[in-house]
Amino acid sequence: MSNDLSRRKVALVAHDRKKERLASWVRQWADILARHELVATETTGGVLCQNVSDLSITTTKSGPMGGDQQIGAMIAEGKIDLLIFFTDPLSPHPHDVDVKALTRLATVYDIPMACGPATADLIMRSGFLEDAISR
Ligand code: PGA
Repeated sequence: MSNDLSRRKVALVAHDRKKERLASWVRQWADILARHELVATETTGGVLCQNVSDLSITTTKSGPMGGDQQIGAMIAEGKIDLLIFFTDPLSPHPHDVDVKALTRLATVYDIPMACGPATADLIMRSGFLEDAISR
């Protein structure tokens, strides 16, 4: 968890066929998300910046090139507070093991995680990004 509880670090990742959906989700919540620190895998971050104006995002490498593992390492170091990863369960992915490792670490460190828009909406409506919580 970051020390500044009003400014959380949010990781944004989407498989290729889910990137447009994540972009529209980020647009929907842009006012709130813009108040926090955003990190995304390279291609996802590029799509988000193209589709959502005035978004400040730090990027890792592309997911299949190690970006998912970079975000996993950030989780292990306590540098990620929320993982939004829109996964595509209907397509094969060469970096499946990295995806599994990332979602596993989010579970190990008890990081709130959404793999699709319904849960992501619930997290946003919960006030998690705004409220200090004790876990
Ligand atoms: P990408 O990586 O944003 O670089 O496409 C996402 C993924 O893990 O598939």
